[in-house]
Amino acid sequence: MNEQTLKVQKIKNGIVIDHIPCGMALKVLKILGIEGDRGSTVTMAMHVNGKNGPKDIVKIEDRNLDEREIDKIALIAPSATVNIVENYEVVKKHRVHVPMQIKGIVKCMNPKCITNQREPVESEFTVLSEEPLILKCRYCGREMKQKDVIESII
Ligand SMILES: [Zn+2]
Repeated sequence: MNEQTLKVQKIKNGIVIDHIPCGMALKVLKILGIEGDRGSTVTMAMHVNGKNGPKDIVKIEDRNLDEREIDKIALIAPSATVNIVENYEVVKKHRVHVPMQIKGIVKCMNPKCITNQREPVESEFTVLSEEPLILKCRYCGREMKQKDVIESII
C-alpha cells in the first residue's frame, strides 16, 4: 500500500488525528494506550506530504477521545487536528490547543517536588510558552521543555 492510498483510505467510525509533527505518531499512540497487541484498528501514515510539509496521520477505528486525551495530544502535537468520523463522514473537526492549566497529566521532573512525594498531590503546571512549549510546575517552579514534557506524560 503506498502513501497516497493510506492517506485517502477512509474509516467508517472513529477518529483521524491529522497534522501530527513528523515522527510523533508513535508517541500519540503510546499516550492513548494503543500499543499494537489489542484494541482498536489503527492506520498510521508517517511522513505524508501535506500542504505545509511532511506530517504524520493516525486513524483509529471505533474509538473516541476524552478531553484529557486531547490535552495530552496537544502537548505532543500542538498543530494536530482531531476529526471525528461517523459513517465515513467527518462530523466534527477541531484543532487541539494547549490548555492553560495542566493538571494531573504530566509528572514533574524534579524528584524532590511535592507532587513526587508520598503525599498525593496532583501535579499542576502553568504554560509559560506554547511555541516552543515550556511548562512551569506550580509547586516547585521547575520549568520543563517540550522534549521533557513528552517523556513525562502520565
Ligand atoms: Zn514540581
